[in-house]
Amino acid sequence: MTNKITGVNGPINGWLDGHTYLIGLMAYPIRHSMSPTMHNNAFAKLGLNFTYLCFEIDNKKLPKAVEAIRTLDMRGSNVSMPNKKEVIKYLDKLSPASEMCDAVNTIVNDNGVLTGYTTDGIGFMKSLEDEGIDIRGKKMCLAGAGGAATPIAVQAALDGVSEIEIFNLNDDKWAQAEKNVKTINEKTNCKASLHHLEDKDDFKRAISECDIYCDATGVGMKPLEDMTLVEDPSWFHEDMTVFDTVYAPRTTKLMKVAQKAGVKHVLNGIGMMIEQGVAAFKLWTGKDMPTDYIREVIF
Ligand code: NAD
Repeated sequence: MTNKITGVNGPINGWLDGHTYLIGLMAYPIRHSMSPTMHNNAFAKLGLNFTYLCFEIDNKKLPKAVEAIRTLDMRGSNVSMPNKKEVIKYLDKLSPASEMCDAVNTIVNDNGVLTGYTTDGIGFMKSLEDEGIDIRGKKMCLAGAGGAATPIAVQAALDGVSEIEIFNLNDDKWAQAEKNVKTINEKTNCKASLHHLEDKDDFKRAISECDIYCDATGVGMKPLEDMTLVEDPSWFHEDMTVFDTVYAPRTTKLMKVAQKAGVKHVLNGIGMMIEQGVAAFKLWTGKDMPTDYIREVIF
């Protein structure tokens, strides 16, 4: 019988055998995730004896799940909500970015020593680089301070963005926004400041002065699909980048407004999503994910 993934006839040697490395994804809910499809297709394409499985893990099950990484000698795991912060106390080490974000999305197991990383910010920066956009030394305006915005701000600051103006509502993420600004100013050369998203004049000014505007709020995605924080194309200028972390729909209302304004680079979150996986893949396997192939067969 022909194997659907590899196209090979008969048994496949060196794949899913006694030597297979297991990678997990620990989150709840999580069955909808594209990560298993992305990683397993990349493993198969490169002939790597790895497999990636989803586990429905909430905060309650988390301690035993992390212990299982050690017990089963798994190579590592991805971690998503609600475990990104909670998992830190069960790990041995953190990458500098993870420490600054106070969050982990990737665990690597080196002979029982578990290190936490955050690859979302790396994915954001790499997705810009893939489009030939270099924001080092440039000015960013960022909406949001949640799970996506925090690693974006931290990685951009670590990689040399000169200034980040963060805008957030006065909601439950305001304290995280204050923390992000404080951490960036203390630990990097980037100048960060916090502003009220409710102050539309200030928001408009910041967008007009920036080189890249990034929306990491989820506005533009279900159930806010018909909404955008910027309705007026005149707020944008042509020589800038507009980045929406949303990947479904592929073209958000914000992106349409930016396109109408003639903005040079308008990006959705697909590249970031793939590149955060690429960075985790490299940490686990030491190999480069075949991204052209993955984009072609999956996205
Ligand atoms: P989150 O809940 O952690 O944070 C949401 C942020 O948006 C907060 O700062 C909150 O104050 C703000 N916000 C919420 N509702 C708002 C509104 N109506 N107006 C203005 N601000 C509002 O969410 P998250 O995990 O950071 O996800 C945000 C978006 O990023 C989602 O669309 C998610 O799909 C996307 N995302 C994309 C990637 C990727 O790889 N492309 C990765 C992670 C998240």
